[in-house]
Amino acid sequence: MSTIHPVDPAFAARARIRKDDYERLYAESVQDPEGFWAKVGERLDWAKKPTKIKDVSFDPKNLHIRWYEDGTLNVAANCLDRHLKERGDKVAIIFEGDDPDESRKLTYRELHAEVCKFANTLKHLGVAKGDRVAIYLPMIPEAAVAMLACARIGAIHSVVFGGFSPDSLAGRIADSQCKLVVTADEGVRGGKKIPLKVNVDEALKRPGTNSVETVVVVRRTGSAVPMQSPRDRYWHNLMDGQSADCPAEPMEAEHPLFILYTSGSTGKPKGVLHTSAGYLVYTSYTHECVFDLREDDVYWCTADVGWVTGHSYVVYGPLANGATTVMFDGVPNHPDFSRFWQVVDKHKVSLFYTAPTAIRALMREGEAPVKKTSRASLRVLGTVGEPINPEAWEWYHRVVGESRLPIVDTWWQTETGGILITPLPGAIATKPGSATKPFFGIKPAIVDANGEVQEGACEGNLLLTDSWPGQMRTVYGDHQRFIETYFSAYPGNYFTGDGARRDEDGYYWITGRVDDVINVSGHRIGTAEVESALVAHPKVAEAAVVGCPHEIKGQGIYAYVTLIAGESGSDELKKELVAWVRKEIGPIATPDYIQWAPSLPKTRSGKIMRRILRKIGENQPDQLGDISTLADPGVVKSLVEERLIK
Ligand code: ATP
Ligand code: MG
Repeated sequence: MSTIHPVDPAFAARARIRKDDYERLYAESVQDPEGFWAKVGERLDWAKKPTKIKDVSFDPKNLHIRWYEDGTLNVAANCLDRHLKERGDKVAIIFEGDDPDESRKLTYRELHAEVCKFANTLKHLGVAKGDRVAIYLPMIPEAAVAMLACARIGAIHSVVFGGFSPDSLAGRIADSQCKLVVTADEGVRGGKKIPLKVNVDEALKRPGTNSVETVVVVRRTGSAVPMQSPRDRYWHNLMDGQSADCPAEPMEAEHPLFILYTSGSTGKPKGVLHTSAGYLVYTSYTHECVFDLREDDVYWCTADVGWVTGHSYVVYGPLANGATTVMFDGVPNHPDFSRFWQVVDKHKVSLFYTAPTAIRALMREGEAPVKKTSRASLRVLGTVGEPINPEAWEWYHRVVGESRLPIVDTWWQTETGGILITPLPGAIATKPGSATKPFFGIKPAIVDANGEVQEGACEGNLLLTDSWPGQMRTVYGDHQRFIETYFSAYPGNYFTGDGARRDEDGYYWITGRVDDVINVSGHRIGTAEVESALVAHPKVAEAAVVGCPHEIKGQGIYAYVTLIAGESGSDELKKELVAWVRKEIGPIATPDYIQWAPSLPKTRSGKIMRRILRKIGENQPDQLGDISTLADPGVVKSLVEERLIK
């Protein structure tokens, strides 16, 4: 049914991990997890080497997850100090601003000095081990500096995406009782200014935020902003007097590293807590294997540090590996739709990691903006965040990758800390739309409607039957919610909340969130599959599919369709799309309703919010739930007005 893209033999010949290595290491990792992860753990510098590697129980009555428990280390020292001898002058961070004329580079030595100075600043401001620090910054190096400075002194950071409103920021500050906020005067995205400091002022007027004693303000645009004495302090003034010497204190392996809220696609965001050693072992190891990292690579992940991808694969994984990582403070369409590829050429990026939403948006603009750039430096392309439609995958491969680059479609979650299901570019043949095979140590299982584990080719809810070092440890301040959300539906297992299909080759296909599965006359239909069929039509740019009430079938299929630039919707085209889906998938997937959508409601990280579309399709527009993490709440209004069931 699906196309297979074999591994390029030339790539495999030089790859870190080849097919037989993958099979051998995978078998080892699941047969002897303790031995396997003990060995992998040696990649870090420990103050005290761990002797207890794994202590985990997924039993809801006795739930605990501990890795490398008796070891101690410092995360910042692993990302900085240990590289100084051999890589002191290597570039750690390439900053690329919103304005294409603005870029700057920091070597490992420079980054180390900045982090030490800010760690001393934090101490000077009374921040101690275990205190929470909110970071509300643009994608500037100071964001990484602040994160690593917290790690250096054992403070727990909570990064809040700079696009969030004062209310969202206030909720997150209150939830974890932050003592300090690091922000900037303003951010700049796509040429537009974002009033970060003013947002912080607003947020701190909200109830529950009294814990904040200090606001540190980075000068980004230099605009005058209200400063409230003695609470508000400028970053550069504070840093000026500080020493660049700040010994890294060893932390217990399970000392909390950060809190990060999930994207809010399915409901109120959860404050996911990650700890130190296991997280760093897992993110650095996956980063090295999945991207086939080499010493001279220039690696660029376009995610914002406000999302887990920005934590694990812009900051911690790459820096622990001594890699050069790009921090991009812009958007894909500014100044024009070639921007990504111009940045690739400018900095000779070799490893590139982005999201399906960006790929679909670029695809909508055609090939010309891509083709006028070289992209010759690229070696591996990656994607994360949503299922990638095979159509978009093929475009990414053919147009961006000139049909020569491997693509890694990486499935994971905020909760998982790092990548769990993914191809390894030198080892695993790819099928567009499939995240392919589990990473080392990952044991997926698929259960049917009765909770029975299925063997062979099957489809159902996706579970993980055992732990891995990067797994979240709790929901901050609400351990009960942690147990209920992830461990109560299938006791003894971690429930991902996603549905998946496993094919005859053992490849995994994420079918979407379990809440989004549609049951048409007793047949389970994944939203991802119908959406991919629609997107494969030449006039369709993007589609979102939800279930709706249907007298005969139980549930019907309700599709929201965005057309490519220049096309307009007609009844004729609706008929054509219905016929198209019937041909691509079968009559069972026939859309009952097609609503033209000028655009779709998305989270700020670019994921389609189907739970909102479902309420509109069910004619319950007064029950949309939490929409605070929507990128543009205005989109919802017109969809509600033009809904087809009233
Ligand atoms: P919330 O948990 O608050 O509803 P969220 O699930 O969107 O928000 P994230 O942790 O950012 O928060 O996203 C993880 C989810 O994204 C996964 O559970 C999965 O549904 C989806 N996802 C991520 N990567 C992929 C991928 N490569 N293929 C398919 N789905 C993916
Ligand atoms: Mg989730």
